[in-house]
Amino acid sequence: MDGKASLYGLDAAALAEAVRAAGAPAFRAKQLGEWLWARPVASWDAMTNLPKALRTALAERFLDLDGTLETLEVAGADGGTLKILSRLADGELVETVVIPARDRATVCVSSQVGCAMGCAFCASGRNGCARNLSAGEIAAQAARAAVLLGRRPDNVVFMGMGEPFANYDNALAAARRMNAPAPEGLGVGARRITFSTCGVVPGIERFAEEGVQFELSVSLHAPTDELRSALMPVNRRWPLGVLVPAVRAYTEKTGRIVTFEYTLVAGFNDAPEHAKALLALVRGFPCRVNLIPLNPVPGFDGRAPDAADCEAFRSYLERHGLNATLRRSKGRGVNASCGQLRRSRIGGA
Ligand code: SF4
Repeated sequence: MDGKASLYGLDAAALAEAVRAAGAPAFRAKQLGEWLWARPVASWDAMTNLPKALRTALAERFLDLDGTLETLEVAGADGGTLKILSRLADGELVETVVIPARDRATVCVSSQVGCAMGCAFCASGRNGCARNLSAGEIAAQAARAAVLLGRRPDNVVFMGMGEPFANYDNALAAARRMNAPAPEGLGVGARRITFSTCGVVPGIERFAEEGVQFELSVSLHAPTDELRSALMPVNRRWPLGVLVPAVRAYTEKTGRIVTFEYTLVAGFNDAPEHAKALLALVRGFPCRVNLIPLNPVPGFDGRAPDAADCEAFRSYLERHGLNATLRRSKGRGVNASCGQLRRSRIGGA
C-alpha cells in the first residue's frame, strides 16, 4: 500500500482533524463528510464545493472512493443482483454484492481479501486469506453501492469474502461508520447491519459484550459435528457443543434473536433426521433459521435438493415451532457465490 488511509475509515473527529491539518476552516469537514456519505461521489474532482487546494492537500494523505476501491467490473444488470469487483490501493481484489429489491436494497460487503476458514462450498476460501480489509475499505463498499444505486442501501450484511470476526476491530469500526448518521456515516439502521460468522466463538463472546444493536447471524449448515466438520473446518476448533452455548449466551446477554444459516445440500444434510437434529440443537432460545438451497460452486461436489424437499425440511421445522424461511439464492447468473468473480481474475481453481 502507499501508506494513505481511506477517507471512509475516518470518524467525525478524525475528519475534523484532517481538515484542520490541511489548514482549512472547520465547516469544510462537514462538507467533506457530505461528499463521503450523504451524497457519495467517487472522486476528489466531484467534491465541487471544496477548494482545489484543500482537495490537493487531503489527497496527499487520504484516498477517495476511487482510490480506496477502483471498480474493475460490475456484473449483472437490469435491476437484478450486481457483483462489483474492485481493486484496492495495493492491487488486491475484493467483491461486493448489491441486491436491489422493489422497496429496499441490500449490500453484501467483504471483510477480508479471501478467507482462511476454508468452508467446502465456498469459493472465497480456496486461495486462503491475503489480508484483512481496513475499516475504510469495508465501509467504502457500502458507499460504492450508494453511488451505483443512486441512494443509500437499506441493509448491510457481512456475507461477502472473509470472516468478519477474524477481522473484528475493523469490521466493527466499519459498521459504526455505516451506521452513523450522515455526514459522519451512511445512516444505515443498526438493526439492518448483520454480522455473519462461520462460528468464531471468541468473536461471538466479544460481540455479546459490545453493547451494539447490530444483528448476528451464524452459519450452521449441519446439525452434527461429523457433518459440520466435513463442510467447515472451523467446527474442529469450536464444535457445536461450544458454539451453540456461546450463541445461547449471546441471546441471553443481548436479548436479541440470532439467525442460523443452513445451506441445504441434497443427500447430505436435508433428510428428516437432520431437521430433527437441528431442531433439538437450537430449541429453547430465540432464533430463526434461514434455509438456503446450495448455490453451485466449482470444486464442490454437491447440489441443491429439489424444491419439494427444501419445503418439506422448512415445514418440519415450522411445525415444531421453529421460525424457518427458505431463501432462494439470488444472482446465480452473475457468478454469485462469494469469491467467484475474484477467483476468475486471479486464476483460482
Ligand atoms: S463461507 Fe464465509 S467463512 Fe466460510 S470460507 Fe467462505 S467466506 Fe470464509
